[in-house]
Order: sequence, then C-alpha cells, then structure tokens
Amino acid sequence: MTGNLTFGIIKPDSVKAGTTGSIIQRIIDDGFEIRALKLIHMTLKEAQGFYAVHRERSFFPGLTEFMSSGPCVVITLEKTGAVRAWRNLMGATDPAKADQGTLRKEFGASLSENAVHGSDSDENAAIEISFFFSQIEIV
Ligand code: GDP
Repeated sequence: MTGNLTFGIIKPDSVKAGTTGSIIQRIIDDGFEIRALKLIHMTLKEAQGFYAVHRERSFFPGLTEFMSSGPCVVITLEKTGAVRAWRNLMGATDPAKADQGTLRKEFGASLSENAVHGSDSDENAAIEISFFFSQIEIV
C-alpha cells in the first residue's frame, strides 16, 4: 500500500437512491483511478467490525444498523495524496456543513446518512482496503 491509495464506500442511502453511477462518474471526473470495486451487503457484525473504532460512541448502534441495512459499494481509489483528495471530494461529515461541489453536499441527507465514507489516514486506508479486498481483487 502506498500514500496514493484510499478506501471509500458508497453508502446504502446512495445505492438505494440510485446515485451510485453519478458518484462513480464524479470520482472518475475528479481524476481518481479505480483499483477495486464491488457491491456488498454487510451483516450487522461486519459493520460493527468495520466501525469498531467508534464502538463507544452514542451513534454506533444507529451507524452500524444503517451500514448493514442494504447494499453498498466498496471501492479502492488511486490518486496522488489519495486520502486527502478523496476526503476533499466527499466534504464534511455533516452534509449541512459540507462545501458546495462536494459529494456529501449533493447526495448526503443527514449526519447519519451522508452518502459516502472515506479513510482518514494512509494507515487506516491500508487496514480498510484489506478488510474488504483480497490481493487478487486489486488491479
Ligand atoms: P467521517 O470520517 O467523515 O465519515 O466521520 P467519522 O469517522 O467521525 O464518523 C463515521 C460516520 O459515523 C460518519 O460518516 C457518520 O455517518 C457517522 N457519524 C459521525 N458522527 C455522528 C454523530 O454525531 N451522529 C450520528 N448520527 N452519526 C455520526
């Protein structure tokens, strides 16, 4: 893994709303290369494992229930400075506070249903990529 990879999720609210294609187009238009991509439906246990760092937070039960409520698209992205670039395209965690032109501003409905996920560091990107993808799935 290098500093040029990051991990993202097109969350269940987006997949349900039919905006997956629009979000993927925005990702490509922003200059990212897609290195891995698949549609999955997490169990509650898998969502709890993925978000284990937040397990003490008050929003953990709602977050993990939401993330396991339907299919989502997991994605590995490559770009120079990928972690920061992807977080810039996503926008602030709360869509109400996200800048114009960001994915969360355009597609997010609320703090809990905010359209997309992105790794917050190179270290977590490597952990999250390997949580969802095996070596052979990354091109
Ligand atoms: P992110 O890195 O911008 O996704 O934000 P965090 O890592 O802090 O939080 C993970 C996810 O938990 C966010 O994307 C939100 O969906 C959710 N979340 C974070 N903070 C809150 C909160 O205060 N309330 C609720 N309901 N959800 C939250």
